[in-house]
Amino acid sequence: MSSASTAAIQAPPLAKVFHFDSPREVYTADACVISCFDARFDRALRKFFKRRGIQVYDHVKIPASVKPWAMPDGGADSDILLRALGTSLRLHHPGKVLLFGHTDCGGYPDTPNAVVVQDLVL
Ligand SMILES: [Zn+2]
Repeated sequence: MSSASTAAIQAPPLAKVFHFDSPREVYTADACVISCFDARFDRALRKFFKRRGIQVYDHVKIPASVKPWAMPDGGADSDILLRALGTSLRLHHPGKVLLFGHTDCGGYPDTPNAVVVQDLVL
């Protein structure tokens, strides 16, 4: 590795750029939500949660949502999902687990919606 590339990876000094006081108490979640990380659906999900009375939730966002669980070779993403769900269950005892998929997901190129829906049914 050249000295030029070593210099390029040096991090700048840390600086506090934002301050916000968050609650310190551990909470009980109304739900653990697993969805695709596609931000186009954030607003719709928030509206859905509000209508269903879901105020506090753990949100696991990963590309293509639960697709790794539906694939035989889900691999590392499958493990990440399981660990995140397990941590939510252990720490926040959600009353329900909600799985979301969406149409035109980049994780499901050229895939009929019925296949995406099938992956959400565990
Ligand atoms: Zn997606």
